[in-house]
Amino acid sequence: MTSPRSSTARRGAGHGGEAASWFSSGELAASRAYHVPLHRAALAVAGADLLVGLVVAAAAARWAGGHGGDDGWVVRSLLVGAALAGLRAPHRAAVEWWRETRHEPAHGDDAVGRGLVAATAVGSALARVASWAVLSVALVGLSRWTPAWPLIAGGVALAGLLAGSVAGPRFAAGWLDRARPLTDGALRRRIDGLAERAGLGPVAVLAGSGRLARTGEGAYVGGFGRARRLVVDAGLLAPGTPDDVVDAVVAHELAHWRLGHLRRGLAPPVLAVVVATALASAFGRLEPAELPMLDVVLRATGLALAPLVAARSRRAEHDADALAAGLVVDGPAAATGVRQLLLDARTELEPRGVGAWLAHYPPPAARLSRLAAGPTAQLGRARA
Ligand SMILES: [Zn+2]
Repeated sequence: MTSPRSSTARRGAGHGGEAASWFSSGELAASRAYHVPLHRAALAVAGADLLVGLVVAAAAARWAGGHGGDDGWVVRSLLVGAALAGLRAPHRAAVEWWRETRHEPAHGDDAVGRGLVAATAVGSALARVASWAVLSVALVGLSRWTPAWPLIAGGVALAGLLAGSVAGPRFAAGWLDRARPLTDGALRRRIDGLAERAGLGPVAVLAGSGRLARTGEGAYVGGFGRARRLVVDAGLLAPGTPDDVVDAVVAHELAHWRLGHLRRGLAPPVLAVVVATALASAFGRLEPAELPMLDVVLRATGLALAPLVAARSRRAEHDADALAAGLVVDGPAAATGVRQLLLDARTELEPRGVGAWLAHYPPPAARLSRLAAGPTAQLGRARA
């Protein structure tokens, strides 16, 4: 088996973006074996959720024939909402159990015990049933109070979304991600230097050891204005990590910031709320028996829009990569380090089929090639 690390060094920065030029055939096969069943499971869950919605819709419509009066709408809303979530609980819990127990503890992760997995699955199922029951009563009650109920519900959803986006990391990173301000002098100066080269002002940097910080890109930037925070995985900031890798991860997040992706990232959820509000308006005064059909309409719309949202995300990630490649000092070294990060994070190495349609990132090989291509050319392109 050829070591991709040595082939990287041998071929230099100019090699292509094919998966085989960055990953061994064994690594590609392991990634496929891990991700293809996950995609199938996700599709199966989405299909089963839709089916449950349709079945409950049919049952609720028949039931409404005998209980069509105005009385008891609270109880009927509670029952329909709980039935929707309750019938979805078994297959969701099964997939959750299957996914957690086949996930070997990755580098830096705590081993997850089966008891905790089961408790989490049961707990989240109960929480979903309760919250759907309450939400159903709230929606039906609101629609009985005013015909403008979709606008009010949409407005509340938008307000929550915006408040969370603007100030979320400022208030939530501490307890969600056990994030602490970064105090290490040299590391701090390195990140400040990157921010300066990206044309950004002072950055509030936190080191986080929670789940959000450890998954995905190894870092995230969130919030707006003075509430903006850059949260970096504390494991990544440990002394063993090469500087080039920290640079690459941080530069990518700073690039999102510099390119205004946080603001633009709000567009899909805002559009989703607007679409949901428009679709809900078609229901007029909402009857408890109509809740499942509203749920089916919204879910089907979400599924149909998912590939568009993913394509938009891929374009933003591509642009952030291009700008980040212009900020790192040693592109090839950074790419070699990031290659290992991608393997450790079990990233899908060669997305195909559904995986490619729903991928929120460009293919890893293309990303590594972009990073390895180095500063000058990429910075020129990012500015163009
Ligand atoms: Zn990104």
